[in-house]
Amino acid sequence: STTVIWFRRDLRLHDHTALSKALESLTDEDQVVGLFYIQPGLNQTFTPRHDYYYETLMKHVENCEEVGFPIHFITGSLEEAFNQVVNQLPDVDQVYFNVDEAGAGAKRDQKVVDFFEEKSIPIFPCVDHTIHGANEVKKPDEQHYKVFSSYYKQWLKQDKPRLQHVDLNKLKHHALDIRDQFKRGQNAYDKLMEQKTGKWQYAGEKHGLKRLEDFAESKVDDYQKKRDFPALSATSMLSPYLRTGAVSARTVYHWIEDEKGDRSQTQGMETFVQELAWRDFYNMIYKQYPKSKDEELIEKYRGMDWGDDQQLLEAWKEGRTGFPLIDAAIKQLHQIGWMHNRLRMAVASFLTKDLLIDWREGERYFEECLIDYEAASNIGGWQWASSTGTDAAPYFRIFNPTRQSERFDPEGTFIKKYLPELKDVPKKYIHSPETMPDEIQKEAGCVIGKDYPKPIVDHKLQRKKALELYKERG
Ligand code: FAD
Repeated sequence: STTVIWFRRDLRLHDHTALSKALESLTDEDQVVGLFYIQPGLNQTFTPRHDYYYETLMKHVENCEEVGFPIHFITGSLEEAFNQVVNQLPDVDQVYFNVDEAGAGAKRDQKVVDFFEEKSIPIFPCVDHTIHGANEVKKPDEQHYKVFSSYYKQWLKQDKPRLQHVDLNKLKHHALDIRDQFKRGQNAYDKLMEQKTGKWQYAGEKHGLKRLEDFAESKVDDYQKKRDFPALSATSMLSPYLRTGAVSARTVYHWIEDEKGDRSQTQGMETFVQELAWRDFYNMIYKQYPKSKDEELIEKYRGMDWGDDQQLLEAWKEGRTGFPLIDAAIKQLHQIGWMHNRLRMAVASFLTKDLLIDWREGERYFEECLIDYEAASNIGGWQWASSTGTDAAPYFRIFNPTRQSERFDPEGTFIKKYLPELKDVPKKYIHSPETMPDEIQKEAGCVIGKDYPKPIVDHKLQRKKALELYKERG
């Protein structure tokens, strides 16, 4: 009989719950098949996130091939595709996969579970994407936490899941290759591969694990001190790997724990582990509040009178606001599909509280541009910044974009990297280039209003308006 392992956003061979559990369950005669479902029409939506994902998928398919475990592709409607699995694989008797606990993925997973249950084929959804699943960290009365600090206390106390070892020899030994029977799926895969740009050469499990190793060895100790300064590249940049599952969250956690054992705990390690817990927290919140992509968690902020100035929105999206840190952050997003956390907070605060534009516009724009787009964390981040989420920044906490720039990019190094038009602007003016006297503008080769825009809003004025907008709601 045949065991099926369905891959999705868990594109790796290390520490993999579904694979590990499936292998444990095999008897000598059993065969195992690696499966990937390609939704039709997928190649019509092509964002950097898709491009990055396909690159990761290709690396995963290659890695699986290398260890003698070929991946089979299916396509068509969900039902058509999984019917193919049942009809074309010899005697399917169980299916393992790592489940999405929230969002659109969770709905799709449920359909697949129903499909196999109807056919009386056991299917095992495994919780794997987070360190603790959405139902694992609860109050003593079984209620879910709403505030991160109490959640985190409990999160820290709970035993952490062990790594889920994958026996690659066993995998190879049981692997079945009948790819010639899955030609339609294979063609769909080949099309995706033709579409990808190939620019994300550092995608995939091998590079992800190397990045983790480098970060754990040489950067994590200073994480607490340096993580807020975008010019320093002091954060792990593991988010795209966690998003695609090329690296597992458990592996990241245990790697850091092992470092603690080897050379004692540092503040950097402690703060870093706390960030992993934020990821778990938002996954739990998204599962609890499935409407939160469209609806404010705090009821009184629903239906607020957001502005709809399209010119302001376009200027924000294109990095033409006249606030250098905000513009440089957006350019970073465009260039590398990733933005530093401090900047995500700053640009989100700017959109909602300086431009008074609905946070949903920002959430969706990030979805279009980020390679690490994770609905739970992105919604969590946007609702935090717009003060509408659970445990969010209070509404009167409004980032001053110029002050953020002075504090977190004091030399203007980050700004100059992403805004070359400001590269010769003296440090004194880099955070507010519009204050440069005319002769200095000429010397710097940067005429304000021509080479770089004037600020599109007056922060002080907008701040007042934002406070009124929120205060109206009591
Ligand atoms: P590190 O600082 O090295 O942290 C390690 C890991 O911890 C990250 O890879 C991430 O998985 C997790 N993490 C860190 N901070 C957070 C956080 N605040 N919330 C949840 N998880 C966190 N993160 C995403 O993964 N996808 C998103 O779509 C996303 N959108 C965001 C939108 C806004 C408005 C804000 C304010 C934050 C968002 N974040 C998102 C969280 C955070 O900015 C990124 O996880 C982080 O910048 C990724 O870089 P890193 O891997 O170097 O992080």
